[in-house]
Amino acid sequence: MRRQEGGDVAVEARPGSEAWPAAAQALEGRPPAEVLAWAAEAFAPRVAFGTGFGAEGCVLIDIIGRHRLPIEVFTLDTGLLFPETYALWRRLEERYGISIRAVRPRLSVEEQGAAHGPRLWERDPDTCCAVRKQAPLRAALAGLDAWITAIRRDQTRERSQARTVERDLRFGLMKVNPILGWTTEDVWAYLRQHDVPYNPLHDRGYPSIGCFPCTGPVRPGEDPRAGRWRGSRKTECGLHASHPARALPVFRAAEEGGGDAHPR
Ligand code: SF4
Repeated sequence: MRRQEGGDVAVEARPGSEAWPAAAQALEGRPPAEVLAWAAEAFAPRVAFGTGFGAEGCVLIDIIGRHRLPIEVFTLDTGLLFPETYALWRRLEERYGISIRAVRPRLSVEEQGAAHGPRLWERDPDTCCAVRKQAPLRAALAGLDAWITAIRRDQTRERSQARTVERDLRFGLMKVNPILGWTTEDVWAYLRQHDVPYNPLHDRGYPSIGCFPCTGPVRPGEDPRAGRWRGSRKTECGLHASHPARALPVFRAAEEGGGDAHPR
């Protein structure tokens, strides 16, 4: 065991050891840079950050890039992202000198139209997300021991139950959420302080940005995610656990025999 520079959280670099679940639990509420350094120490090279280039994702890319952490960054390129999002993708790569890997669905948008009919997102967004997001994510996570996300607890009811380090039962690996306890204000204060590039759509009323057919601006006072799948009951892409049983705090996972499922 070693102690993380600049912090007081003990870092156990070997998942599967007796002390590791307690070390992971101790990361609750710690600074994101500390959590990311821990994740790199514990899991690299079998760890990656999946981003959709939201404001929160830009924070984590900045930390990973500036500290040169050995954490791969990837994005789910559905083929339906806003031009502004594709431009931000390139800008972040240039700014930090990193390559952000594109993870694409098996079917192009045209092939999906031929197989399922045009504009599937209007008729059956769950199937569309399954094809264009969930299946590619599952493929991207295969072979990894942990993935990092930029979710925050206050974004959705589903995310309110998340832990900084938890076992993702849906995808079968560890999940690390370094800015879980941050607020919108925390995110924007960080972006401004560090002059981090972000999507200009945020300045045009889009607090949450996904695929262009399913994302619209929100009105003042609306929920920040009200522009996603507006008019339907859908609130999530299905990438993050929608039920507590699909994600366990790491210490519980260990008690239940899952905490050392990914030894080096
Ligand atoms: Fe399809 Fe919309 Fe999901 Fe994108 S967000 S994969 S367009 S349903």
